[in-house]
Amino acid sequence: MEKFVYSFNEGSKDMRSLLGGKGANLAEMTKIGLPVPFGFTVTTEACNKYYDENCTIADSIVAEIYEKLAELENVTGKKFGDVSNPLLVSVRSGAAFSMPGMMDTILNLGLNDNTVEGLAKLTENERFAYDSYRRFIQMFGDVVMEISKSKFDAIFDACKEKNGCKYDVELTTENLKEIIVGYKKLVKEEMGRDFPQEPKDQLMEAVKAVFRSWNNERAILYRQLNDIPGSLGTAVNVQSMVFGNMGNTSGTGVAFTRNPANGENKVFGEFLVNAQGEDVVAGIRTPQPIAEMASAFPEVYTKFTEIAEILEKHYTDMQDMEFTVERGKLFMLQTRNGKRTAAAAVKIAVDMVEEGLIDKKTAITRIEPAQIDQLLHPTFESESLSKAAKIAKGLPASPGAACGMIYFNASDAEKAVAEGKKAVLVRQETSPEDLAGMVAAEGILTARGGMTSHAAVVARGMGKCCVAGCAEISVSEENKTLVVGDKTYKEGDYISLDGTTGTVYEGQIKTVAPELSGDFGTIMKWADEIRTLKVRTNADNPRDAKQAVLFGAEGIGLCRTEHMFFEEERIPAVRRMIMADSEAERREALAALLPYQKSDFKGIYEAMGDRPVTIRLLDPPLHEFIPHTDEEMKVLAKQINVPFEKLQAKGAELHEFNPMLGHRGCRLAVTYPEIAEMQAEAIIRAAIELKKEKNMDIVPEIMIPLVGSKKELAFVKKVVVETIEKCFEKEGIKFDYLVGTMIEVPRAALTADEIAEEAEFFSFGTNDLTQMTLGFSRDDTGKIIKEYKRLGIFEEDPFQSLDQVGVGKLVKMAVELGKATRPNIKLGICGEHGGDPKTIEFCHRVGLNYVSCSPFRVPIARLAAAQAAIKDGKN
Ligand code: ADP
Ligand code: MG
Ligand code: MG
Repeated sequence: MEKFVYSFNEGSKDMRSLLGGKGANLAEMTKIGLPVPFGFTVTTEACNKYYDENCTIADSIVAEIYEKLAELENVTGKKFGDVSNPLLVSVRSGAAFSMPGMMDTILNLGLNDNTVEGLAKLTENERFAYDSYRRFIQMFGDVVMEISKSKFDAIFDACKEKNGCKYDVELTTENLKEIIVGYKKLVKEEMGRDFPQEPKDQLMEAVKAVFRSWNNERAILYRQLNDIPGSLGTAVNVQSMVFGNMGNTSGTGVAFTRNPANGENKVFGEFLVNAQGEDVVAGIRTPQPIAEMASAFPEVYTKFTEIAEILEKHYTDMQDMEFTVERGKLFMLQTRNGKRTAAAAVKIAVDMVEEGLIDKKTAITRIEPAQIDQLLHPTFESESLSKAAKIAKGLPASPGAACGMIYFNASDAEKAVAEGKKAVLVRQETSPEDLAGMVAAEGILTARGGMTSHAAVVARGMGKCCVAGCAEISVSEENKTLVVGDKTYKEGDYISLDGTTGTVYEGQIKTVAPELSGDFGTIMKWADEIRTLKVRTNADNPRDAKQAVLFGAEGIGLCRTEHMFFEEERIPAVRRMIMADSEAERREALAALLPYQKSDFKGIYEAMGDRPVTIRLLDPPLHEFIPHTDEEMKVLAKQINVPFEKLQAKGAELHEFNPMLGHRGCRLAVTYPEIAEMQAEAIIRAAIELKKEKNMDIVPEIMIPLVGSKKELAFVKKVVVETIEKCFEKEGIKFDYLVGTMIEVPRAALTADEIAEEAEFFSFGTNDLTQMTLGFSRDDTGKIIKEYKRLGIFEEDPFQSLDQVGVGKLVKMAVELGKATRPNIKLGICGEHGGDPKTIEFCHRVGLNYVSCSPFRVPIARLAAAQAAIKDGKN
């Protein structure tokens, strides 16, 4: 017969899915001989059966529960409902994954009008017994009977007022008895029946309530958001009560085996004398540091530290424990793997390898890749932060902490920084022209734009703190004001940004520089030994490239050339190129750009040394390079000596209704091959010069964007190859280079076998691929995606973590088709997803050679790639 109820001495930690996390660990602690108040666990399968059978508990399960209850009575020598020696239990929910939103724990179940007297005698404290009883009725009424809490509160408060009590503690036993009468009357009115006096009835109702709570609204939403299947069910733990509030030889506490903030190998926690369970968490009294237990209860303390050590060795991980001391005797009530900061995670993992507790692979899996981001950016000093006032919340677009004076445009910010001030650039949204200001600023705040908006992408690339899409603020760039609610901030006012949470603070908060400690380096070294996926970076300039190399980048996966076009001294030439009436004129303007591009590429090649560099040809629509307002156009007209009307007409001509699907990517090179020629020449000449000057052997990888068909690629490739061969001939030199493409138009993925006939490598441009596959504009849909996530329609922002089911299917297909045509085709990813741990695991699984991400995500990617390899189990 199937078994639905397990005593604590029948289970183990490996039975998590059946017994839930809490139940499995209570069983495990019992098994290894630790002092755990005895009890039993009703399984998650019983929960599922309850739902299968129309929300009823089968008779056979009820019988099993009663059988285990009898055993519990035997073991404890107490009896349910026995006035002289009553058995009281806690009823605790516990699913396989810790789930906020599940039912609150019910303590002291088994109390009724008679047993309350027993408890009074047992604890030698009548007031406590009646207070426990009234709490029990209130809690049971609220969580089991679903009677509004406020109705209980009304009775309670009325009694306090009538008796002139200001604080709860002033209520006498008699007052409490009165309240209990009131509570019972309320229950009768609300439920049409008496408060259950029979402990067995109380128990069965509580068990059902736990099952019901599995499907309450909060729990369902939480599961949707965290991708936890509803079919798992929750277990119910029924455990005999122990009392931490039986006087000054009793107490209760929570503790970690190591410090969860910094990883120090020393028990860390808090403790309260003469208190029950929730008191520690509820903050009614201030708990003492656990170390003080050494003097309060020396023997118990020694015992506790011994148990902590046993548990840590047993689980080979840092434990988070709950315990209670009843009249000098220690009981363990819970243990689980403890949550910790990134710094603690790294230290604990390395220490545990040194202590011989775990191996290197295990150490690597113990660190949450996304978390180590904390170690790479400045953070706020905690004391200074605790005094700061939050004013708004936006998207956590680029992590780190920043503090500075507000400036509303790039040149003001630049000027202020040149004068030695610290600036925060506040914009409605940023555009490529703001780049210099963004570089100068400590951080960036925008009112509009999503996680892949210009501000977000560029800031992440620079490792600069950015809060984007902060809808609560309104920014007037004209008046130079930032308004939140009824407050107005002006240029020069201080604000602080937390790009890790998206929070905006008023005033100055001290920041602390990141410290890449020795332990961190050690973990990274271990990760590199294990991973098979290479990690490259997205970088457009030598500064970013060098930063990425420091973080361990093994090449550049995406160098965007348009960022170079925007630099101040080049943009006139770029604009002249756009305004050209003839090919000859265009070539002239391009010739002016060539030396700039060439020196850019030289700088990048040099920064990367012998590491591969993939350079993408010009991608954005041309209208991005000419100003939008008449004012600016007039200035430009003078500057480049073109009539204003002509400029205006050109602007109108270039205007597109849907620029993302318009004249951009390889379409630019198809219509103006001279652009591709100039870029190819710059790319190859830079390599030639470094070969001649420094004997560097560079193998440039030239990437053609936005290709949707083989012929399109062949057309541009021919231009590129002919240009390069001409250069080789002229210089009397020859070396290898690669021409490949981005796979970012769905058709390219669908016809990857044909495209691979021309392409020597594929790089998945998953930003555009996501945009075009989902039909969601990456610049306009931030708000919609947020709502979709809230409703559980999207589990994640598809621009942050690859939609593996849909977009991933295209990637997988393109990998297979590409390899079928060209077995050793090089495969990488260069979208924003390249730095997302889940996407990285996917990339490892489908067999890409590398991921490419912004410099500050390189360490995260190295760790995630190692974890993917460990999970894969092939090495
Ligand atoms: P949570 O999951 O919210 O931590 P728990 O089921 O762990 O809920 O219960 C909360 C607290 O209730 C525990 O930390 C413990 O102090 C107290 N508690 C639970 N069961 C018992 C028990 N059998 N005896 C004494 N206290 C208990
Ligand atoms: Mg707990
Ligand atoms: Mg693209």
